[in-house]
Amino acid sequence: MKIPVGVLGATGVVGQRFLSLLDQHPWFEPVWLAASDRSAGKTYAEAARWRLATPMPERFAAMTVSEATPKSCGARIVFAALDAAFAREIEPAFAAAGHAVISNSSALRMVEDVPLLVPECNPDHLGLIERQASFKKNGGFVVTNPNCSTIGLVLALAPLQQAFGLESVLAVTMQAVSGAGYPGVASLDILGNVVPYIGGEEEKMETEAQKILGRLTPQGIAPGGFAVSAHCNRVAVEDGHMESVSVKFKSRPSLAEVEAALRNFRGRPQELELPTAPPAPILVTNAPDRPQPRFDRDAGKGMAATVGRLRPCPILGYKFTVLSHNTLRGAAGAALLNAELLYAEGRL
Ligand code: NAP
Repeated sequence: MKIPVGVLGATGVVGQRFLSLLDQHPWFEPVWLAASDRSAGKTYAEAARWRLATPMPERFAAMTVSEATPKSCGARIVFAALDAAFAREIEPAFAAAGHAVISNSSALRMVEDVPLLVPECNPDHLGLIERQASFKKNGGFVVTNPNCSTIGLVLALAPLQQAFGLESVLAVTMQAVSGAGYPGVASLDILGNVVPYIGGEEEKMETEAQKILGRLTPQGIAPGGFAVSAHCNRVAVEDGHMESVSVKFKSRPSLAEVEAALRNFRGRPQELELPTAPPAPILVTNAPDRPQPRFDRDAGKGMAATVGRLRPCPILGYKFTVLSHNTLRGAAGAALLNAELLYAEGRL
């Protein structure tokens, strides 16, 4: 029997991605959809302005959207795609009511005993769940996934940290408009333009990377211990966050060793063959002008990060470009992979 799941924020950009990924999922069955009071009581077709190129799955169109309270929710797992301001109140209420809350928002990511999970990078951090004092009640708990620009960065950094040790990282992002939700950034602000500011984003990249690539200790997560400096820019791209990254390692690997570490990277999701896992989390391209959002964002069904332009950096040692899909690997796909790992490891 499939596990009943719900989606909080089902009408939004990330919520729609959840539904398209859950439509044919082998383990999870969506039984409950919720959004704001504006949508509650309407059918999903009435409430959601469907933004994906694939059609709205028929079975969701007629479902009634519920209020975002645990009262009406019969799901074991609740995927949450809410604005952080609402998530801070709503997600703990669902965990307290006994649900496994798999969150996309930034609200609880940095809470000490909440796993900030990227299954290929830090699957052992799920050990925090046993110790979760903040939200673990009645069988409920909270697991989060990172910010959409952090995730591409840490996927590329994880094998490099494991092989060579990281000393410092400089990342400059070019982030898609869909990262701001719908309707998001006004067209007059972004067309023919680049906006060199995304509120809170640089701080998220700098702190989340440290937690994800940190070590699980009896006292909690010991941060990664490397310096990160992020510059975040919004660009007129629909989907796909691209990042120019320079890194300084503790050791002095050759270019070929750096490339091999990226190419050969595999993690628990690949070992367990989780349904949403790409065969390889990182694809390395040697084309001189790739990755590009239009051509590479859907690599591995939107779950693989593409690394290209790997070359020496005269200041930090090496530099490269990494691209990942912000609403798939950066949001709904990430949360789904987290839930699949929880299931495969018997934690549900
Ligand atoms: P969005 O398109 O603005 O959708 C927001 C969703 O939250 C809608 O379903 C909305 O319902 C619902 N909502 C708003 N206020 C609510 C309330 N008071 N109570 C219950 N539900 C409420 O935003 P999004 O881009 O999907 O982002 C959702 C979350 O994921 C955010 O925390 C965002 O930071 C995070 N995230 C987004 C991305 C991305 O690339 N877009 C990537 C990673 C993480 P109505 O339709 O009824 O208003």
